[in-house]
Amino acid sequence: MRVLVVEDDARIARDVTEALGAAGFAVEHEPDGERAWFLGDVEDYDLVVLDLGLPRMDGLTVLRRWRANDRAMPVLVLTARGNWRERVEGIDAGADDYLAKPFEMAELLARVRALVRRSAGRADPQLRAGPVVLDTVRMQVSVDGVPKRLSPLEYRLLSYLMHHAGRVISQAELTEHLYAQDFERESNSIEVLIGRVRRKLGTEVIRTRRGFGYTVERDGAG
Ligand code: CA
Repeated sequence: MRVLVVEDDARIARDVTEALGAAGFAVEHEPDGERAWFLGDVEDYDLVVLDLGLPRMDGLTVLRRWRANDRAMPVLVLTARGNWRERVEGIDAGADDYLAKPFEMAELLARVRALVRRSAGRADPQLRAGPVVLDTVRMQVSVDGVPKRLSPLEYRLLSYLMHHAGRVISQAELTEHLYAQDFERESNSIEVLIGRVRRKLGTEVIRTRRGFGYTVERDGAG
């Protein structure tokens, strides 16, 4: 899952970026409103954390322009404390949720997880595919109840596939959503990564659709 943090306050940006990184997301940070608008328009993010007071283009304008251009990624708006007008304007501009500053990082993470889940059509924070359970809150993976240790990148891969269980995901899409923009993206590394996850969890979990990509079967209950 790839997240864009749009925030011009350096300290908040650093804290949010670090927390999201530790929570298993590929995170990019942009302090400038106009550049953020451009990034959100051309790149595929799974979620955006958007401050409203930004240099060069304010957050509401950024958000309205994305929505006017059918950019549908979930957006969590950061508002000033007690400013109900900002919250209303944010939601009317197309925000999916808001959080008033100052906020607890644990609440931001919980809201981010919920938004990512809901935009993927999942309600339960525990994602299941056959014997595999991925706990998005504790960041734990188990097979038949046995905990498995995944690297951050392996976790990110499995999490993306399980959030979108039932869909065939191309290598290009995986590459787009697993790595932040400033990381080197190599599509052949996806194959290597899939191999590593299969060795740890069993070969049945991630299926190859030759010529199309990879898929995790969707559980009836999921
Ligand atoms: Ca600001």
